[in-house]
Amino acid sequence: MATVRSISDRALNRRVARGRFAPSPTGPLHFGSLIAALGSFLEARCQSGEWLLRIEDVDAPRTAPGATTAILRALERYGLHWDGPVVYQSQRTAHYQAALESLLAAGLAYPCTCTRRELAGCPRGRDGAPIYPGTCRAGPRRLDRPPAFRLRVTDALIQFHDAIQGHYRQRLAREVGDFVLRRADGLFAYQLAVVVDDAAQGVTQVMRGADLLDSTPRQIVLQRLLGLPTPDYAHLPVVVDARGDKLSKQTGAPPLDERHPVPTLWAALRFLGQQPPPELAGETVPAIIAWAVAHWDRAAIIPASAANTAMID
Ligand code: GLU
Ligand code: ZN
Repeated sequence: MATVRSISDRALNRRVARGRFAPSPTGPLHFGSLIAALGSFLEARCQSGEWLLRIEDVDAPRTAPGATTAILRALERYGLHWDGPVVYQSQRTAHYQAALESLLAAGLAYPCTCTRRELAGCPRGRDGAPIYPGTCRAGPRRLDRPPAFRLRVTDALIQFHDAIQGHYRQRLAREVGDFVLRRADGLFAYQLAVVVDDAAQGVTQVMRGADLLDSTPRQIVLQRLLGLPTPDYAHLPVVVDARGDKLSKQTGAPPLDERHPVPTLWAALRFLGQQPPPELAGETVPAIIAWAVAHWDRAAIIPASAANTAMID
């Protein structure tokens, strides 16, 4: 009896794999964003898991009108159907505020009134942001300015295993510094919003572009301080153009072709190291997606981006 019960308990408690795609609606999807969408979709679906969609419109001034509609439409055209309602970060401010307040109450965050100009001379981290020298740690310097809020980081070594990129380690104090949780203009930072939302949505696996690898230790630290679980991470190779720049709206990446999705979907699968059989090329989007779910091989992904440059036109 006991055995039977423990088996069924285990079955009931089994963690449902849950992935997500979290685009910022700064413009339509391009080939680089398709890679993150398709990879995270296949990774979830091959485990019969759920795949959620979250629109990261926390930075309202950077949101392009119509971009969200265009993103949803493109995902549908590429056969990437999500589960449940779309979550919008712009509607979740109260949750970010609550997380910030709990960090402030625990003395883990503090107000900072330094301006960008005052920090211009600081050494920079990998993401180009100044490594904050801790000027306001003991109290904000200027009471006449609205403050930003920063997390007080330590020199602890943060490490995690990335399913594609391997072992990754970072010392936040040296490499990043006390980072911003809420900007002086009141907007919440990506790092805080993403952690609050991944936990609230019960996300168990995060697959996204390797440009965010360097953000992951910050997110893991926030999860620990907020008592939230850490999902599994897998960072995909970044798609770069002929100049070696990451595809983005800023570098002029063209929007996804919505009228003829098959060749682009095919190229995306090849970029992800998958080998769809030639006879599938004449098939429909749903047939290609079904093949890709059934044959998804994460181990075939080439971790570095340079090797993949030639894959895109
Ligand atoms: N919104 C972020 C972006 O578009 C992605 C966030 C994430 O996947 O964690 O770059
Ligand atoms: Zn400061």
